[in-house]
Amino acid sequence: MLPNYRRCISCRKVAPKEAFLRVVRLYPSHEIALNQGMGRSAYLCPETGCLQIARKKDRLSRVLKAPVPESLYQALTQQLESYPLVKRQQLGNDRPAIE
Ligand SMILES: [Zn+2]
Repeated sequence: MLPNYRRCISCRKVAPKEAFLRVVRLYPSHEIALNQGMGRSAYLCPETGCLQIARKKDRLSRVLKAPVPESLYQALTQQLESYPLVKRQQLGNDRPAIE
C-alpha cells in the first residue's frame, strides 16, 4: 500500500487517508474521538453503507480495541450528512471532482 493510503474497515477500499473519516482511540486516555488527536485509528469511507456495516459488525470497536459509544456513531452520522460532495467524488473513482 502506498504511504498515506488507508483501508476502509467496512468495504476494504483503499484511498488516500484524507478521503476517509478517521476514528481515533486517543492516547493515552483511550477515549474515542473523530478526525482529531493521536492514537490508534480506524478509517471509514464517508458512505452511509460503510458506517452501517461498521456499526452492525462492531468493526470500530474491534479495530480500535475499545468500546465505541453511541455518541460517536451519532457524530459520524452527522459528519456524513455534512460531508462535502467533492470529497465523496474523490473516493472510489478517478474522475475529477469538478468537470
Ligand atoms: Zn468503505
